[in-house]
Amino acid sequence: MRLSLEDQRQAGIDIVSDGEQTRQHFVTTFIENLSGVDFEKRETVRIRDRYDASVPTVVSEVSRQKPVFVEDARFLRQQTSQPIKWALPGPMTMIDTLYDNHYKSRERLAWEFAGILNQEARELEAVGVDIIQFDEPAFNVFFDEVNDWGIATLEKAIEGLRCETAVHICYGYGIKANTDWKKTLGSEWRQYEEFFPKLQKSKIDLISLECHNSHVPMDLIELIRGKKVMVGAIDVATNTIENPQEVADTLRKALQFIDADKLYPCTNCGMAPLSRRVARGKLSALGAGAEIVRRELSA
Ligand code: ZN
Repeated sequence: MRLSLEDQRQAGIDIVSDGEQTRQHFVTTFIENLSGVDFEKRETVRIRDRYDASVPTVVSEVSRQKPVFVEDARFLRQQTSQPIKWALPGPMTMIDTLYDNHYKSRERLAWEFAGILNQEARELEAVGVDIIQFDEPAFNVFFDEVNDWGIATLEKAIEGLRCETAVHICYGYGIKANTDWKKTLGSEWRQYEEFFPKLQKSKIDLISLECHNSHVPMDLIELIRGKKVMVGAIDVATNTIENPQEVADTLRKALQFIDADKLYPCTNCGMAPLSRRVARGKLSALGAGAEIVRRELSA
C-alpha cells in the first residue's frame, strides 16, 4: 500500500486511496468477511445479465461480525495527510454476484447488505476516510430495480455519514464479457439517462462517469446538475498511455457542463487489470492533464 501511495503522490494525485491493495476483488473480498455466505457452495448464475459465473451461496441471514477494511483504512490514514477515498461494493452489485438460497428476494438481500455497508462506512468515516465510494456497475443494467429500490438501498448505506459519498457506476473493465457487451450498446451509451434523474435527487455527493474513449455523451451531466462529477479522463481498457493534452481535452469538454469546483478528474474505472508500469503512466498523465487545465482556469 505504501508503494501505491508513493506512486499516487509522484503522479500528483490529490485524493488518494489504497490503490486496491487491500482487496482481491471489488465485490467478493468484502463478502468473504461476512457471515451467511458459503463460499464452498457454488451455483452458476448470470452476472449483470451478461456472463455466467460460479458464485457463492447465501445460506442464512447475512451479517458483519467484524470490521472488514477499517484497520486498512486506519493504516492509510496514518501514511498521508492528503484526503483519502475508500471504495466499497454497492448493495445491488453485491446481490448480483451471489446465489441467494435464503432471502429469495433480490430487494430484501440488497436492504440487508445496505445495513451492513452502513456499519462499515460509519467506522471508515470514524478512522478518517474523507470520501466513501460505492461501486455499482449493476446500475447500468437493471434500470427498473435501480429506480424502485437500488438508489434507496444506496442511501441506506450512506445514512448518517458526514463524510462525502460517491457512486461509481460504469461499463466495466476491459475484459471480454464487457467489451462484447459494449458492442451491443450502440454508438451512444445513454444507459445513465435511465436513472440519473433519480440519482440527482439522492443524497450521494459525487457521481463518476467514464468520459475518455467511451460512448457516454457528456451532455448527460446536465441530468445530475448540482452533483460533483468524477470525470473519467483515462481509459482503463487499453495499455496505451494517454498524454496530458488528451486528458486536458476531455476535462475541457466536461467543463462545458460542470463548474470547475465540482469537477474531479479521475480514471474511467479501476486499474487493477493493468500492469504497474502502465498504471503509473496513466496516473501521471491524469495528474499532468489536470494541472494543465488548472493553470488555464487560474490564468
Ligand atoms: Zn468501474
